[in-house]
Amino acid sequence: MWKNIVRNVLIALAILSGLALGFTNTDVDVDGLKFWQTSSTTSTTMPKVTTSSMTYGRFLDYLEMGWIKRVDLYDNSRNAIVEASSPELGNRPQYIRVEIPAGASQLIIKLKEYNVDFDAHATENSNFIADTIGNILVPVAFIAGLILLFQNSENLPGGMGQGPMNLGKSPARFQRRPDTGVMFNDIAGIDEAKSEFEEIVSFLKQPDKYTVVGAKIPKGILLVGPPGTGKTLLAKAIANEADVPFFNVAGSEFVEMFIGIGAARVRDLFKKASENAPCIVFIDEIDAVGRERGAGVGGGNDEREQTLNQLLTEMDGFKENKGVIVVGATNRVDILDSALLRPGRFDRQVTVNLPDRLGRAAILNVHARNKPLSEDVSLIQLANRTPGFSGADLANLLNEAAILATRYKKSLITRNEVNEAADRIIGGIAGASMEDTKNKRLIAYHEVGHAITGSVLRSHDEVEKITLTPRGSAKGLTWFTPEEDQNLLSRSELLARIITTLGGRAAEQVVFGNPEITTGASNDLQQVTNLARQMVTRFGMSNIGPIALEDENTGQVFLGGGLSKGPDFADNIADRIDNEVRKIVTYCEQKAVEIVLDNRVVIDLIVEKLMDVETIDGPEFRQLLGTYTVLPNKKVPYVSKLD
Ligand code: ADP
Ligand code: ZN
Repeated sequence: MWKNIVRNVLIALAILSGLALGFTNTDVDVDGLKFWQTSSTTSTTMPKVTTSSMTYGRFLDYLEMGWIKRVDLYDNSRNAIVEASSPELGNRPQYIRVEIPAGASQLIIKLKEYNVDFDAHATENSNFIADTIGNILVPVAFIAGLILLFQNSENLPGGMGQGPMNLGKSPARFQRRPDTGVMFNDIAGIDEAKSEFEEIVSFLKQPDKYTVVGAKIPKGILLVGPPGTGKTLLAKAIANEADVPFFNVAGSEFVEMFIGIGAARVRDLFKKASENAPCIVFIDEIDAVGRERGAGVGGGNDEREQTLNQLLTEMDGFKENKGVIVVGATNRVDILDSALLRPGRFDRQVTVNLPDRLGRAAILNVHARNKPLSEDVSLIQLANRTPGFSGADLANLLNEAAILATRYKKSLITRNEVNEAADRIIGGIAGASMEDTKNKRLIAYHEVGHAITGSVLRSHDEVEKITLTPRGSAKGLTWFTPEEDQNLLSRSELLARIITTLGGRAAEQVVFGNPEITTGASNDLQQVTNLARQMVTRFGMSNIGPIALEDENTGQVFLGGGLSKGPDFADNIADRIDNEVRKIVTYCEQKAVEIVLDNRVVIDLIVEKLMDVETIDGPEFRQLLGTYTVLPNKKVPYVSKLD
């Protein structure tokens, strides 16, 4: 055993020392290392600094609130470890993992905009490893590794294609009898993609039915969508439903440090596939090989381009209707080489989006099948709470709930565990409750201030709950049930959001007086300023008019504000922007203070209750509030009169 490990380490070092000697760029050493450690997973190696993770949407929220201090990007910017801290997070830095979805190419610009320190890495430790080896171990390891490389390689662990002498063999995991365990009815919420695939299954089962009428079944199907939406699941399901062999490989596994190896692997993969036709070849993260040619720098590029060319050749080479169907998956279709998308290659694209509300409910239903849920659990309600969640996030949520139930020694998963799991995933892990101090009372007023403004404004999301239980080291939290479609926000929705965000500080001010207001609102204020500014410069929602005054992507103010009326207009426009921003914020602040003053009695009452029970949920809050004030019916469409 030990011998094996030592040998593997030495071989890995030899490869790395090859890198250090300048064979190729560091981009590739991730995959190189990974190849030598191959396991059964297809995902690229991620640094394991942190076990907590959050969605990309959540990350953007944090970013806008100014909580993100540093971002370290990995895997060609597909993963990140972020450092977050703020007074609301208790000022202790937290390290959180984020998966970056497709179409997030503006991220870098955003990071600059918010002045966030960021850096890109090959893998987390690779620099350290490379340095150490470079200094001490290069000569020894290189020679020792090479000797071992050419010794009998069959003893090496890893099975097919994993030994050094199998460099040109495809690393695909192959299942002759597709016991992937996944059927179509295990997949929910992505019905369009599913029906597209049901047709493929019927072709694989009865090809004659199609060929007799001259129909061509696509050779390649590209699944496009964010991580965790079920792309792998779909590919597994077609193989299983059609009962054909299944080849599963990740694009990054083709990209190696030695020129020509990737191409050889592609050749090998397609050879095996033809021998086993009809079959499904699934290439996950196809962007790792399929990136636009000539787009990168460094020696690793030649290797990738060769690999891509080989893939193109192979896809041209095998005949239609032979029964080899290549399914590629990516979340970065924007960076794919256009040659890949031409007819005869990946000529069919199926988009797999994040599920909508009903989709989420359906996915939750699938994953609840084998879990003992108590009757008080409403999956619909859970679906309402979780916009932006992928199928994988939802599966994770129910799993977390099951773990909690086990921990609490319950035989059924109750509403309590499900809610706790959702809270954990959305907001972080709960901390111990606070001492009954003046601070706690102030936080209670601050949160109730948010909740009450959000509730009386028709254009604001409903309150989900208010809590003084610290979570993810935020001291108090007001949760709102987010609207399904956050893409288009109306002017009154934006104003309502600003007023509600200012509601916390407004309550502090009204109740405790100006000298007592705290720093706790600093992030609220930052958020408010950002929103107001965007209303003026991007959304054309101020007196300046419907004019884009800054670049959507870079945030740069256009000279002359796009109005170009001579050189001195440029100075003027900056003042006008500031003026309009101030007007919006002042207006909203007045509104917030007004709402707090109007509702002072019930605010006191709710704060007392909150101090006592720590958490008040939405319906109870509305009921308390409703006895003192008339609440708008937010379900009914209305014409905005906010001005
Ligand atoms: P992708 O390949 O798109 O990154 P996967 O197919 O690997 O995502 O999904 C990961 C896991 O998330 C699946 O094993 C499954 O448990 C769950 N999941 C994702 N999407 C769905 C879905 N549409 N229906 C049911 N489960 C899903
Ligand atoms: Zn606040």
